[in-house]
Amino acid sequence: MSVDPAAELPFFYGSISRSDAEEQLKLAGMADGLFLLRQCLRNLGGYVLSIVWNLEFHHYPIEKQLNATFCITGGKPHCGPAELCEFYSKDPDGLVCTLRKPCLRSPDTPIRAGVFDSLRQNMLREYVKQTWNLEGDAMEQAIISQAPQLERLIATTAHEKMPWYHSKITRQEGERRLYSGAQPDGKFLVRDREVSGTFALSMMYGKTVYHYQILHDKSGKYSMPEGTKFDTVWQLVEYLKMKPDGLVTVLGEACVNSKAAAQTPVVPSGRRPRANGYTPPPGAIASASKPANPVPTDREVLPMDCTGFNPYHNPNDVKRFNIQRTQLLVDEVELGSGNFGCVRKGVLKTDSGQIDVAIKVLKSENEKLVKEEMMREAEIMHQLSNPFIVRMLGLCNAESLMLVMEMASAGPLNKFLSSKKDTVSVENIVNLMHQVSMGMKYLEERNFVHRDLAARNVLLVNQQFAKISDFGLSKALGADDNYYRARTAGKWPLKWYAPECITHRKFSSKSDVWSFGITMWEAFSFGGKPYKKMKGPDVTRFIETGNRMECPSGCPDRMYALMKECWTFKHEERPDFKKVEESMRTYHYSISSKAQPEGNAGAAEPIE
Ligand code: AMP
Repeated sequence: MSVDPAAELPFFYGSISRSDAEEQLKLAGMADGLFLLRQCLRNLGGYVLSIVWNLEFHHYPIEKQLNATFCITGGKPHCGPAELCEFYSKDPDGLVCTLRKPCLRSPDTPIRAGVFDSLRQNMLREYVKQTWNLEGDAMEQAIISQAPQLERLIATTAHEKMPWYHSKITRQEGERRLYSGAQPDGKFLVRDREVSGTFALSMMYGKTVYHYQILHDKSGKYSMPEGTKFDTVWQLVEYLKMKPDGLVTVLGEACVNSKAAAQTPVVPSGRRPRANGYTPPPGAIASASKPANPVPTDREVLPMDCTGFNPYHNPNDVKRFNIQRTQLLVDEVELGSGNFGCVRKGVLKTDSGQIDVAIKVLKSENEKLVKEEMMREAEIMHQLSNPFIVRMLGLCNAESLMLVMEMASAGPLNKFLSSKKDTVSVENIVNLMHQVSMGMKYLEERNFVHRDLAARNVLLVNQQFAKISDFGLSKALGADDNYYRARTAGKWPLKWYAPECITHRKFSSKSDVWSFGITMWEAFSFGGKPYKKMKGPDVTRFIETGNRMECPSGCPDRMYALMKECWTFKHEERPDFKKVEESMRTYHYSISSKAQPEGNAGAAEPIE
């Protein structure tokens, strides 16, 4: 879900009116410098700062700039509302006074949602449901992990689903459609103009049709001339239903495009819904890494485009514990190896098609102990189902014991990043690490400890889609336990382990958080080796004396600050994954919404 960058500020009230703001300030005592922050309706994404001085109210609009900075007209730009308020608490810089005392929201006053917040949420859900045929948890995970990308997609295509959108028709045809049937004031439609990417609004007033050009500026915002700017055409239309903003009247009923309304479900062009229990054509090979449907060429592949995001439309279809040998083709190609044996490429034949898989094959000469270990790993994996965790599809006991898993064909994160230093952006890494934090939050909620989280165990389906793998050391904790104590120390990845793992052999989600910090460090150093050439015991001394690894070059400060939080010595004071995921999400959203696609200029063209 989209998080307002001001949502964490205790003096942010959301979408309240000017008079409500003044009421709150009166209630809080009208001291000089008393202030609060609220959402601005005129400038989408902007705020208003309301301050008391000399028993009077002063309201300063804060605009969101094209480069996603925020500033009070004529003032300095700031990267977020929190930073802006911090600045004005020290320096009035043109305001009546410094911000002295926040007017705090009481616990029973929730942040008031803006007119568009709930509309946008509904639109997002409807879009994900129709485009990828996702529901429930899978839908939530898709929305949380890709909200900025989805909002951008919706910004450019959401109007296509609206009954008032008539796509490319001429002005005359628009008039014909508006004149047919009843002709109430405000009846309207939106159509494409000849200039691609720009729109016209045609509306009825006094039995006459008026045409307006919808402006589309360089930053991609839509508006009426001189009017309020919006991210999407449908938001502009919703606004024009409330305020005329230069039109002869407010918009009323939609002139319904009967062709579009007949399509069920209506899906933006270039996408189509995946059939329930996606069935590939006979002989086709589905793959977790291949998109289930053609992905439009004008955007990146999203995790939800891959079959591996949500394979269980019918849970009994694929998720079988026992796999028959005849269902399995084992390739010669080795994907990796370990002391248990090797991981091979393969194909699993199911009732609804064939799936590319990775198969962990136990060396046949391996002793009972290793076999038991693999069974334990299978048992853990069987209980987990999350898009950001490699799913087990089943076990096959034939010439050797084989654990069949979803395929993550782009391989381990550390190798991927070290081979693609020049083509992977920081935003991309943040997106992937946010997905890892979502997978780890899922484990934490279900009381599983991973115990081997590292970049080598984060596998990529593709450059935009990460999955946590290797549950060989993982444990399910008892309902009342919050840690697992190992009886003896083993062959452990010490550089990834928290101090309490090494000194007390105690493992918990909090010790996984420490490993997440190391994994972040590996990711932001493009697959670098943590603690360079130091040996395990040297690392322990290094940590105990208060040292931590340095910030990888090019790593954002906010991400390094989070790593250091993950490396809090005392596990009681370390954040949990709920908190870590929240921090990753906030940062991911804040930088992804800045990476706007180029808008097309379309202003001041005469209407055709
Ligand atoms: P593991 O013992 O689970 O760490 O697996 C060893 C190696 O096999 C990994 O580093 C990967 O390169 C490869 N591998 C394991 N599982 C998969 C998978 N599901 N998809 C693709 N490659 C995998």
